[in-house]
Amino acid sequence: LSERLGGVFDRLTKQGALSEDDVRTALREVRVALLEADVSLPVARNFVKRVQDKATGAAVTKSVTPGQQVVKIVHDELIRTLAGDDPEPGKLRIDQVPAPILMVGLQGSGKTTTTAKLARRLTERDKKRVLMASLDTNRPAAMEQLQILGRQIGVDTLPIVPGETPVQIARRAKTQASLGGYDVYMLDTAGRLHIDAELIAQAAEVRDVANPRETLLVVDGLTGQDAVNVATEFDDKIGVTGVVLTRMDGDGRGGAALSMREVTGKPIKFVGLGEKMDALETFEPERIAGRILGMGDIVALVEKAQQTLEAEQAERMMKRFQKGQFNMNDLKSQLEQMMEMGGMESMMSMMPGMGKAAKQMADAGMDDSILRRQIALINSMTKTERANPQLLQASRKKRIAAGAGLEVSELNKLLKMQRQMGDMMKKLGKGGMLKRAMSGMF
Ligand code: GDP
Ligand code: MG
Repeated sequence: LSERLGGVFDRLTKQGALSEDDVRTALREVRVALLEADVSLPVARNFVKRVQDKATGAAVTKSVTPGQQVVKIVHDELIRTLAGDDPEPGKLRIDQVPAPILMVGLQGSGKTTTTAKLARRLTERDKKRVLMASLDTNRPAAMEQLQILGRQIGVDTLPIVPGETPVQIARRAKTQASLGGYDVYMLDTAGRLHIDAELIAQAAEVRDVANPRETLLVVDGLTGQDAVNVATEFDDKIGVTGVVLTRMDGDGRGGAALSMREVTGKPIKFVGLGEKMDALETFEPERIAGRILGMGDIVALVEKAQQTLEAEQAERMMKRFQKGQFNMNDLKSQLEQMMEMGGMESMMSMMPGMGKAAKQMADAGMDDSILRRQIALINSMTKTERANPQLLQASRKKRIAAGAGLEVSELNKLLKMQRQMGDMMKKLGKGGMLKRAMSGMF
Protein backbone atom coordinates (compact mmCIF):
# COMPACT_ATOMS: atom_id res chain seq x y z
CA LEU A 1 0.00 0.00 0.00
CA SER A 2 2.78 2.45 0.83
CA GLU A 3 4.26 2.16 -2.65
CA ARG A 4 0.91 2.51 -4.26
CA LEU A 5 0.06 5.58 -2.24
CA GLY A 6 3.53 6.96 -2.82
CA GLY A 7 2.83 6.88 -6.55
CA VAL A 8 -0.48 8.62 -6.16
CA PHE A 9 0.87 11.31 -3.93
CA ASP A 10 3.96 12.06 -5.93
CA ARG A 11 1.50 13.73 -8.21
CA LEU A 12 0.02 15.74 -5.40
CA THR A 13 2.22 18.63 -4.49
CA LYS A 14 -0.41 21.06 -3.36
CA GLN A 15 -0.10 22.46 0.12
CA GLY A 16 -2.82 23.78 2.35
CA ALA A 17 -5.79 21.57 3.03
CA LEU A 18 -6.34 18.12 1.57
CA SER A 19 -8.77 18.58 -1.28
CA GLU A 20 -11.65 16.24 -1.88
CA ASP A 21 -10.03 15.08 -5.11
CA ASP A 22 -6.69 14.29 -3.43
CA VAL A 23 -8.46 12.29 -0.82
CA ARG A 24 -10.69 10.46 -3.28
CA THR A 25 -7.75 9.38 -5.41
CA ALA A 26 -5.87 8.13 -2.39
CA LEU A 27 -8.83 6.32 -0.97
CA ARG A 28 -9.43 4.37 -4.14
CA GLU A 29 -6.05 2.79 -3.46
CA VAL A 30 -6.86 2.27 0.18
CA ARG A 31 -10.02 0.45 -0.79
CA VAL A 32 -8.16 -1.88 -3.13
CA ALA A 33 -5.59 -2.57 -0.43
CA LEU A 34 -8.32 -3.41 2.06
CA LEU A 35 -9.96 -5.81 -0.36
CA GLU A 36 -6.60 -7.43 -1.01
CA ALA A 37 -6.21 -7.86 2.74
CA ASP A 38 -9.46 -9.83 2.67
CA VAL A 39 -11.66 -7.16 4.14
CA SER A 40 -15.22 -7.67 2.93
CA LEU A 41 -16.58 -5.22 0.38
CA PRO A 42 -19.28 -3.52 2.48
CA VAL A 43 -16.84 -3.13 5.35
CA ALA A 44 -14.17 -1.65 3.08
CA ARG A 45 -16.73 0.73 1.63
CA ASN A 46 -17.90 1.94 5.03
CA PHE A 47 -14.39 2.30 6.27
CA VAL A 48 -13.29 4.37 3.30
CA LYS A 49 -16.33 6.60 3.72
CA ARG A 50 -15.40 7.33 7.32
CA VAL A 51 -11.82 8.12 6.40
CA GLN A 52 -12.99 10.37 3.61
CA ASP A 53 -15.08 12.41 6.01
CA LYS A 54 -12.14 12.78 8.35
CA ALA A 55 -9.49 13.50 5.76
CA THR A 56 -11.25 16.03 3.57
CA GLY A 57 -10.32 19.48 4.71
CA ALA A 58 -7.76 18.28 7.23
CA ALA A 59 -4.89 20.72 7.35
CA VAL A 60 -1.78 19.52 5.58
CA THR A 61 1.28 19.96 7.70
CA LYS A 62 4.39 21.26 6.05
CA SER A 63 6.86 18.49 6.42
CA VAL A 64 4.74 15.42 5.78
CA THR A 65 3.33 14.73 2.36
CA PRO A 66 -0.42 14.54 1.84
CA GLY A 67 0.12 10.84 1.23
CA GLN A 68 1.70 10.31 4.61
CA GLN A 69 -1.07 12.27 6.17
CA VAL A 70 -3.82 10.20 4.58
CA VAL A 71 -1.95 7.07 5.63
CA LYS A 72 -1.95 8.35 9.18
CA ILE A 73 -5.68 9.03 9.10
CA VAL A 74 -6.27 5.56 7.65
CA HIS A 75 -4.03 4.01 10.26
CA ASP A 76 -5.73 5.80 13.15
CA GLU A 77 -9.17 4.86 11.89
CA LEU A 78 -8.11 1.23 11.51
CA ILE A 79 -6.99 1.16 15.10
CA ARG A 80 -10.14 2.85 16.27
CA THR A 81 -12.30 0.32 14.43
CA LEU A 82 -10.27 -2.69 15.53
CA ALA A 83 -10.16 -1.64 19.15
CA GLY A 84 -13.85 -0.81 19.37
CA ASP A 85 -14.91 -0.11 22.92
CA ASP A 86 -13.20 -3.09 24.51
CA PRO A 87 -11.15 -1.48 27.27
CA GLU A 88 -9.12 -4.60 28.05
CA PRO A 89 -8.85 -7.08 25.18
CA GLY A 90 -7.00 -9.75 27.15
CA LYS A 91 -9.41 -9.71 30.06
CA LEU A 92 -12.10 -12.35 30.51
CA ARG A 93 -15.16 -12.33 32.73
CA ILE A 94 -14.26 -14.92 35.28
CA ASP A 95 -15.88 -13.21 38.20
CA GLN A 96 -17.89 -16.15 39.50
CA VAL A 97 -16.70 -19.44 40.90
CA PRO A 98 -16.55 -21.63 38.96
CA ALA A 99 -16.73 -19.41 35.86
CA PRO A 100 -17.72 -21.32 32.72
CA ILE A 101 -16.06 -20.48 29.40
CA LEU A 102 -17.60 -21.96 26.28
CA MET A 103 -15.43 -22.37 23.18
CA VAL A 104 -17.23 -22.54 19.84
CA GLY A 105 -16.23 -22.50 16.18
CA LEU A 106 -15.86 -24.56 13.04
CA GLN A 107 -13.86 -27.76 12.91
CA GLY A 108 -10.15 -27.12 12.53
CA SER A 109 -10.43 -23.46 13.53
CA GLY A 110 -8.20 -24.12 16.53
CA LYS A 111 -10.70 -24.52 19.38
CA THR A 112 -8.94 -27.34 21.20
CA THR A 113 -5.52 -25.74 20.85
CA THR A 114 -6.87 -22.37 21.96
CA THR A 115 -8.71 -23.91 24.92
CA ALA A 116 -5.41 -25.32 26.18
CA LYS A 117 -3.46 -22.13 25.45
CA LEU A 118 -6.02 -20.06 27.32
CA ALA A 119 -6.12 -22.51 30.23
CA ARG A 120 -2.36 -22.22 30.47
CA ARG A 121 -2.55 -18.44 30.46
CA LEU A 122 -5.27 -18.39 33.13
CA THR A 123 -3.25 -20.78 35.25
CA GLU A 124 0.11 -19.08 34.94
CA ARG A 125 -0.74 -15.40 34.63
CA ASP A 126 -3.96 -15.18 36.57
CA LYS A 127 -3.23 -17.97 39.06
CA LYS A 128 -6.59 -19.59 38.43
CA ARG A 129 -7.41 -23.27 38.90
CA VAL A 130 -8.77 -24.42 35.58
CA LEU A 131 -10.63 -27.55 34.50
CA MET A 132 -10.91 -28.35 30.80
CA ALA A 133 -13.51 -30.63 29.27
CA SER A 134 -13.81 -31.84 25.69
CA LEU A 135 -17.38 -32.10 24.42
CA ASP A 136 -16.26 -33.36 21.05
CA THR A 137 -18.05 -36.69 20.82
CA ASN A 138 -17.76 -36.76 17.04
CA ARG A 139 -14.13 -37.73 16.96
CA PRO A 140 -12.81 -40.05 19.67
CA ALA A 141 -9.30 -38.70 19.24
CA ALA A 142 -10.48 -35.16 19.99
CA MET A 143 -11.00 -35.85 23.69
CA GLU A 144 -7.60 -37.43 23.97
CA GLN A 145 -6.06 -34.49 22.18
CA LEU A 146 -7.25 -32.16 24.95
CA GLN A 147 -6.17 -34.61 27.63
CA ILE A 148 -2.66 -34.77 26.18
CA LEU A 149 -2.43 -31.01 25.97
CA GLY A 150 -3.69 -30.78 29.55
CA ARG A 151 -0.93 -33.04 30.77
CA GLN A 152 1.62 -31.09 28.80
CA ILE A 153 0.66 -27.74 30.37
CA GLY A 154 -0.24 -29.11 33.79
CA VAL A 155 -3.96 -28.32 33.64
CA ASP A 156 -6.62 -30.82 34.73
CA THR A 157 -9.05 -32.30 32.23
CA LEU A 158 -12.38 -33.92 33.01
CA PRO A 159 -11.99 -37.71 32.93
CA ILE A 160 -13.32 -39.22 29.71
CA VAL A 161 -16.49 -41.33 30.05
CA PRO A 162 -17.33 -43.11 26.79
CA GLY A 163 -20.87 -42.84 25.47
CA GLU A 164 -21.88 -39.52 27.04
CA THR A 165 -23.58 -36.75 25.04
CA PRO A 166 -22.06 -33.24 24.98
CA VAL A 167 -24.76 -31.98 27.34
CA GLN A 168 -24.04 -34.78 29.80
CA ILE A 169 -20.35 -33.94 29.69
CA ALA A 170 -21.12 -30.26 30.27
CA ARG A 171 -23.21 -31.12 33.34
CA ARG A 172 -20.46 -33.32 34.71
CA ALA A 173 -17.86 -30.61 34.10
CA LYS A 174 -19.99 -28.11 36.00
CA THR A 175 -20.42 -30.43 38.98
CA GLN A 176 -16.79 -31.44 38.98
CA ALA A 177 -15.67 -27.80 38.78
CA SER A 178 -17.80 -26.86 41.80
CA LEU A 179 -16.84 -29.89 43.88
CA GLY A 180 -13.19 -29.71 42.92
CA GLY A 181 -12.82 -26.03 43.82
CA TYR A 182 -11.91 -24.83 40.33
CA ASP A 183 -12.06 -21.13 39.46
CA VAL A 184 -12.80 -21.69 35.80
CA TYR A 185 -14.04 -24.54 33.65
CA MET A 186 -13.64 -24.53 29.91
CA LEU A 187 -15.90 -26.39 27.52
CA ASP A 188 -14.28 -27.28 24.21
CA THR A 189 -17.11 -28.09 21.82
CA ALA A 190 -17.16 -30.12 18.63
CA GLY A 191 -17.05 -28.28 15.33
CA ARG A 192 -18.21 -29.03 11.82
CA LEU A 193 -16.76 -28.03 8.53
CA HIS A 194 -19.77 -25.81 7.96
CA ILE A 195 -22.39 -24.40 10.23
CA ASP A 196 -25.41 -26.66 10.29
CA ALA A 197 -28.56 -26.90 12.36
CA GLU A 198 -27.29 -29.78 14.43
CA LEU A 199 -24.08 -28.06 15.39
CA ILE A 200 -25.95 -24.95 16.46
CA ALA A 201 -28.60 -26.90 18.35
CA GLN A 202 -25.92 -28.81 20.24
CA ALA A 203 -23.97 -25.67 21.13
CA ALA A 204 -27.17 -23.94 22.25
CA GLU A 205 -28.07 -26.85 24.50
CA VAL A 206 -24.64 -26.82 26.10
CA ARG A 207 -24.87 -23.06 26.54
CA ASP A 208 -28.16 -23.44 28.40
CA VAL A 209 -26.67 -25.99 30.75
CA ALA A 210 -23.46 -24.11 31.48
CA ASN A 211 -24.61 -20.49 31.34
CA PRO A 212 -21.15 -19.38 30.25
CA ARG A 213 -19.63 -16.10 31.43
CA GLU A 214 -17.71 -15.99 28.16
CA THR A 215 -18.61 -17.64 24.88
CA LEU A 216 -15.50 -17.34 22.76
CA LEU A 217 -15.72 -17.89 19.05
CA VAL A 218 -12.52 -19.32 17.62
CA VAL A 219 -12.01 -18.30 13.99
CA ASP A 220 -9.28 -19.12 11.55
CA GLY A 221 -7.76 -15.75 10.67
CA LEU A 222 -6.77 -17.05 7.25
CA THR A 223 -10.32 -17.62 6.11
CA GLY A 224 -10.97 -13.96 5.49
CA GLN A 225 -14.48 -13.07 4.44
CA ASP A 226 -15.88 -16.45 5.30
CA ALA A 227 -14.95 -15.86 8.90
CA VAL A 228 -17.39 -12.98 9.08
CA ASN A 229 -20.34 -15.10 7.97
CA VAL A 230 -19.37 -17.71 10.51
CA ALA A 231 -19.16 -15.12 13.25
CA THR A 232 -22.49 -13.55 12.39
CA GLU A 233 -24.19 -16.94 12.35
CA PHE A 234 -22.72 -18.08 15.66
CA ASP A 235 -23.53 -14.79 17.29
CA ASP A 236 -27.14 -14.81 16.09
CA LYS A 237 -27.77 -18.36 17.15
CA ILE A 238 -25.66 -18.81 20.25
CA GLY A 239 -24.54 -15.39 21.39
CA VAL A 240 -20.81 -14.71 21.36
CA THR A 241 -18.99 -12.52 23.87
CA GLY A 242 -15.58 -12.44 22.21
CA VAL A 243 -13.49 -13.67 19.32
CA VAL A 244 -10.14 -15.44 19.15
CA LEU A 245 -8.40 -15.19 15.77
CA THR A 246 -6.06 -18.11 15.15
CA ARG A 247 -3.30 -18.66 12.59
CA MET A 248 -2.33 -15.03 12.67
CA ASP A 249 1.23 -16.33 12.33
CA GLY A 250 0.35 -17.29 8.76
CA ASP A 251 0.48 -15.02 5.77
CA GLY A 252 -3.12 -13.91 5.99
CA ARG A 253 -3.36 -10.18 5.94
CA GLY A 254 -5.58 -9.58 8.91
CA GLY A 255 -8.57 -8.32 6.98
CA ALA A 256 -10.79 -10.79 8.76
CA ALA A 257 -10.13 -8.95 11.99
CA LEU A 258 -11.42 -5.68 10.62
CA SER A 259 -14.50 -7.22 9.01
CA MET A 260 -15.21 -9.17 12.14
CA ARG A 261 -15.09 -6.13 14.36
CA GLU A 262 -17.16 -4.00 12.06
CA VAL A 263 -19.87 -6.53 11.22
CA THR A 264 -20.35 -8.34 14.51
CA GLY A 265 -19.25 -5.60 16.88
CA LYS A 266 -17.72 -8.33 19.04
CA PRO A 267 -14.40 -7.67 20.71
CA ILE A 268 -11.38 -9.62 19.49
CA LYS A 269 -9.81 -10.88 22.67
CA PHE A 270 -6.79 -12.91 21.62
CA VAL A 271 -4.80 -13.95 18.59
CA GLY A 272 -3.20 -17.34 18.02
CA LEU A 273 0.31 -17.11 16.63
CA GLY A 274 1.36 -20.73 16.25
CA GLU A 275 0.80 -24.29 17.31
CA LYS A 276 2.80 -24.11 20.53
CA MET A 277 1.08 -23.62 23.86
CA ASP A 278 2.62 -20.20 24.47
CA ALA A 279 1.59 -18.88 21.06
CA LEU A 280 -1.41 -16.90 22.27
CA GLU A 281 -1.34 -13.16 22.68
CA THR A 282 -3.67 -10.42 23.75
CA PHE A 283 -5.18 -8.77 20.71
CA GLU A 284 -3.30 -5.60 19.77
CA PRO A 285 -5.08 -3.35 17.27
CA GLU A 286 -1.81 -1.59 16.33
CA ARG A 287 -0.22 -4.78 15.09
CA ILE A 288 -3.15 -5.83 12.97
CA ALA A 289 -3.52 -2.31 11.60
CA GLY A 290 0.09 -2.35 10.42
CA ARG A 291 -0.51 -5.70 8.85
CA ILE A 292 -3.60 -4.64 6.96
CA LEU A 293 -1.77 -1.64 5.60
CA GLY A 294 0.94 -4.08 4.60
CA MET A 295 3.85 -1.91 5.42
CA GLY A 296 6.64 -2.50 7.86
CA ASP A 297 7.51 1.14 8.18
CA ILE A 298 4.01 2.36 8.81
CA VAL A 299 4.66 2.97 12.48
CA ALA A 300 7.74 5.04 11.82
CA LEU A 301 5.83 7.00 9.24
CA VAL A 302 2.98 7.68 11.57
CA GLU A 303 5.34 8.72 14.34
CA LYS A 304 7.08 11.12 12.04
CA ALA A 305 3.76 12.65 11.08
CA GLN A 306 2.90 12.96 14.73
CA GLN A 307 6.18 14.63 15.63
CA THR A 308 5.76 17.07 12.82
CA LEU A 309 2.30 17.97 13.99
CA GLU A 310 3.65 18.58 17.47
CA ALA A 311 6.56 20.66 16.22
CA GLU A 312 4.19 22.82 14.24
CA GLN A 313 1.96 23.26 17.23
CA ALA A 314 4.97 24.39 19.22
CA GLU A 315 5.90 26.85 16.54
CA ARG A 316 2.41 28.32 16.47
CA MET A 317 2.49 28.65 20.21
CA MET A 318 5.83 30.40 20.10
CA LYS A 319 4.59 32.96 17.60
CA ARG A 320 1.75 33.82 19.96
CA PHE A 321 4.07 34.10 22.94
CA GLN A 322 6.28 36.51 21.05
CA LYS A 323 3.28 38.74 20.59
CA GLY A 324 2.72 38.66 24.33
CA GLN A 325 -0.30 36.35 24.12
CA PHE A 326 -0.07 33.90 26.94
CA ASN A 327 -3.34 32.76 28.48
CA MET A 328 -4.37 30.02 30.87
CA ASN A 329 -4.55 27.42 28.10
CA ASP A 330 -0.91 28.12 27.34
CA LEU A 331 -0.01 27.96 30.98
CA LYS A 332 -1.86 24.68 31.34
CA SER A 333 -0.02 23.05 28.48
CA GLN A 334 3.27 24.33 29.90
CA LEU A 335 2.42 22.90 33.30
CA GLU A 336 1.45 19.58 31.78
CA GLN A 337 4.69 19.44 29.87
CA MET A 338 6.60 20.17 33.02
CA MET A 339 4.89 17.23 34.68
CA GLU A 340 5.83 15.01 31.76
CA MET A 341 9.38 16.21 31.65
CA GLY A 342 10.24 15.39 35.19
CA GLY A 343 8.98 18.31 37.15
CA MET A 344 9.42 21.97 37.49
CA GLU A 345 13.01 22.33 38.56
CA SER A 346 14.53 20.24 35.80
CA MET A 347 12.32 22.07 33.37
CA MET A 348 13.24 25.58 34.48
CA SER A 349 16.91 24.77 34.67
CA MET A 350 16.81 23.93 30.98
CA MET A 351 15.67 27.41 30.10
CA PRO A 352 18.40 30.02 29.73
CA GLY A 353 18.37 32.59 32.46
CA MET A 354 15.92 30.60 34.54
CA GLY A 355 18.37 28.78 36.77
CA LYS A 356 17.94 31.31 39.54
CA ALA A 357 14.17 31.31 39.25
CA ALA A 358 14.18 27.55 39.40
CA LYS A 359 16.14 27.62 42.60
CA GLN A 360 13.81 30.20 44.10
CA MET A 361 10.81 28.12 43.24
CA ALA A 362 12.32 25.01 44.69
CA ASP A 363 13.20 26.93 47.85
CA ALA A 364 9.63 28.20 48.05
CA GLY A 365 8.46 24.61 48.08
CA MET A 366 7.12 24.57 44.55
CA ASP A 367 7.03 20.92 43.66
CA ASP A 368 4.93 18.66 41.49
CA SER A 369 1.96 18.60 43.82
CA ILE A 370 1.76 22.33 43.16
CA LEU A 371 1.77 21.67 39.44
CA ARG A 372 -1.13 19.32 39.93
CA ARG A 373 -3.07 21.88 41.99
CA GLN A 374 -2.41 24.57 39.42
CA ILE A 375 -3.73 22.36 36.66
CA ALA A 376 -6.81 21.64 38.77
CA LEU A 377 -7.43 25.38 39.13
CA ILE A 378 -7.20 25.92 35.38
CA ASN A 379 -9.52 22.98 34.79
CA SER A 380 -12.04 24.65 37.03
CA MET A 381 -12.20 27.73 34.75
CA THR A 382 -14.60 28.17 31.86
CA LYS A 383 -13.33 28.36 28.31
CA THR A 384 -13.76 32.11 28.23
CA GLU A 385 -11.96 32.55 31.51
CA ARG A 386 -9.02 30.48 30.34
CA ALA A 387 -8.65 32.56 27.21
CA ASN A 388 -9.10 35.85 29.12
CA PRO A 389 -7.71 35.49 32.63
CA GLN A 390 -8.08 39.26 33.14
CA LEU A 391 -11.82 38.61 33.55
CA LEU A 392 -11.28 36.94 36.88
CA GLN A 393 -12.85 39.09 39.58
CA ALA A 394 -13.70 38.16 43.14
CA SER A 395 -16.85 36.10 42.54
CA ARG A 396 -15.35 34.12 39.67
CA LYS A 397 -12.21 33.51 41.68
CA LYS A 398 -14.24 32.13 44.55
CA ARG A 399 -16.11 29.76 42.25
CA ILE A 400 -12.94 28.54 40.53
CA ALA A 401 -11.06 27.96 43.76
CA ALA A 402 -14.03 26.12 45.27
CA GLY A 403 -14.31 24.00 42.12
CA ALA A 404 -10.73 22.86 42.55
CA GLY A 405 -11.12 22.49 46.29
CA LEU A 406 -8.45 25.14 46.92
CA GLU A 407 -8.04 28.63 48.40
CA VAL A 408 -8.44 31.85 46.44
CA SER A 409 -4.94 32.83 47.56
CA GLU A 410 -3.59 29.91 45.59
CA LEU A 411 -5.49 31.05 42.51
CA ASN A 412 -4.01 34.53 42.94
CA LYS A 413 -0.55 33.02 42.88
CA LEU A 414 -1.41 31.18 39.70
CA LEU A 415 -2.63 34.39 38.06
CA LYS A 416 0.54 36.17 39.04
CA MET A 417 2.57 33.35 37.57
CA GLN A 418 0.62 33.52 34.31
CA ARG A 419 1.27 37.27 34.03
CA GLN A 420 4.93 36.90 34.85
CA MET A 421 5.45 34.07 32.44
CA GLY A 422 3.64 36.02 29.75
CA ASP A 423 5.94 39.00 30.29
CA MET A 424 8.97 36.79 30.38
CA MET A 425 8.02 35.02 27.16
CA LYS A 426 7.55 38.36 25.46
CA LYS A 427 10.94 39.61 26.59
CA LEU A 428 12.70 36.43 25.64
CA GLY A 429 10.94 36.54 22.29
CA LYS A 430 12.36 39.95 21.47
CA GLY A 431 15.92 38.81 21.99
CA GLY A 432 15.43 35.61 20.00
CA MET A 433 15.97 33.73 23.25
CA LEU A 434 12.55 32.16 23.24
CA LYS A 435 13.23 30.16 20.16
CA ARG A 436 16.35 28.67 21.67
CA ALA A 437 14.64 28.03 24.97
CA MET A 438 11.71 26.31 23.37
CA SER A 439 13.75 24.15 21.06
CA GLY A 440 15.00 22.55 24.25
CA MET A 441 11.50 22.12 25.54
CA PHE A 442 9.82 20.35 22.64
P1 GDP B 1 -10.37 -27.58 16.43
O1 GDP B 1 -10.87 -28.60 15.46
O2 GDP B 1 -11.12 -26.30 16.27
O3 GDP B 1 -10.36 -28.06 17.82
O4 GDP B 1 -8.87 -27.25 16.00
P2 GDP B 1 -7.51 -27.71 16.67
O5 GDP B 1 -7.29 -26.99 17.95
O6 GDP B 1 -7.46 -29.20 16.73
O7 GDP B 1 -6.45 -27.13 15.64
C1 GDP B 1 -6.34 -27.58 14.32
C2 GDP B 1 -4.90 -27.37 13.85
O8 GDP B 1 -4.59 -26.01 13.79
C3 GDP B 1 -3.87 -28.01 14.77
O9 GDP B 1 -2.89 -28.62 14.00
C4 GDP B 1 -3.30 -26.82 15.52
O10 GDP B 1 -1.97 -27.06 15.94
C5 GDP B 1 -3.39 -25.75 14.49
N1 GDP B 1 -3.47 -24.41 15.10
C6 GDP B 1 -4.33 -23.95 16.04
N2 GDP B 1 -4.11 -22.65 16.32
C7 GDP B 1 -3.09 -22.26 15.54
C8 GDP B 1 -2.40 -21.01 15.34
O11 GDP B 1 -2.68 -19.97 15.96
N3 GDP B 1 -1.39 -21.00 14.42
C9 GDP B 1 -1.05 -22.12 13.72
N4 GDP B 1 -0.06 -22.02 12.85
N5 GDP B 1 -1.68 -23.28 13.86
C10 GDP B 1 -2.68 -23.39 14.75
MG1 MG C 1 -11.14 -29.79 18.67
